[in-house]
Amino acid sequence: MFLSPIAMHISEYYTGEEPVFSFEFFPPANDKAHASLLKTISELHALQPHFVSVTYGAGGSTRDRTLELVSWIKNTVGLEAMAHLTCVGSSRDELRTMLDRLENAGIENLIALRGDPPAGDSEFKPAADGLSYASELIAMIRDENRPFCLAAAAYPEVHPEAESPEADLERLAHKVQQGAEVLITQLFFDNDSFFAFRDRAVKAGIAVPIVPGIMPVTGGLERMARFGAAIPARLRRQVELAGDDTGSIADAGEAWATEQCAALLAEGVPGLHFYTLNRSRATRNVLEKIRPHSP
Ligand SMILES: Cc1cc2nc3c(=O)[nH]c(=O)nc-3n(C[C@H](O)[C@H](O)[C@H](O)COP(=O)(O)OP(=O)(O)OC[C@H]3O[C@@H](n4cnc5c(N)ncnc54)[C@H](O)[C@@H]3O)c2cc1C
Repeated sequence: MFLSPIAMHISEYYTGEEPVFSFEFFPPANDKAHASLLKTISELHALQPHFVSVTYGAGGSTRDRTLELVSWIKNTVGLEAMAHLTCVGSSRDELRTMLDRLENAGIENLIALRGDPPAGDSEFKPAADGLSYASELIAMIRDENRPFCLAAAAYPEVHPEAESPEADLERLAHKVQQGAEVLITQLFFDNDSFFAFRDRAVKAGIAVPIVPGIMPVTGGLERMARFGAAIPARLRRQVELAGDDTGSIADAGEAWATEQCAALLAEGVPGLHFYTLNRSRATRNVLEKIRPHSP
């Protein structure tokens, strides 16, 4: 499982012919979850993802644990890694300190995000002397000539706070103008929404890779609703047919995600980013079926 450390800007992976596969994890909250995540990482490591990413907890709550995990994955496990970073609850100086720590840990890839308002707040409020939008974080990192490859978030079904799809797309183009080199999308289940979005983005002059975010359904529809993605009628029926049987729900979710990923790859997407929820089964089963040359 342990390889020698590698150094790579993820944008370079997307210049190749092969699709790029990446997995997202979140920092575990306790020892039991930590042990389970190590098992997941070792199982998914065998699939040789191009890189993995580690989220930054809501409200910046996992700052230290994100840094610890992303650094361990990069420097001990030997997988290329990308850290998530949000503006929530941090002043510019606090963000700079975090950027210094990431840089010192050898992290070369970041996804720069605004973050969500804390639970209970309806709108995002920047911290004192903080930043209001992801584009400002990207601009700050670029102005300071920090050596990170930067990714940013994109929303095929439109960010819930955007005034309109057009305004959201303009803001996205602005993130790219400020220096985002790769866009990773919010999860979606309906490929048509992704393809329509990709066409609009290309028309708006966005020329960086737009990578679909994939999450196989693993729970009932109520649970899925909290992610906000539209659920196509056929997927809804399949999950309903599975009833309360979690194994059958997972089978239906994997079958849908396999079909979804195969169609995306056939349309030439540059890669797929899997929201693993720190579990290996769904990602492994889907990837084994759709990867052109399984490792
Ligand atoms: C791939 C991915 C990874 C994520 N990882 C994390 C994570 O690790 N931790 C976490 O807490 N959250 C994460 N999120 C969720 C993300 O933080 C939320 O979706 C958040 O609400 C928006 O972040 P953003 O970076 O897209 O914001 P922004 O790009 O700043 O956009 C936020 C909203 O503001 C609007 N906007 C942008 N610029 C302007 C402007 N100049 N004027 C007016 N309106 C503007 C946009 O249209 C949008 O509605 C992730 C999302 C994705 C897709």
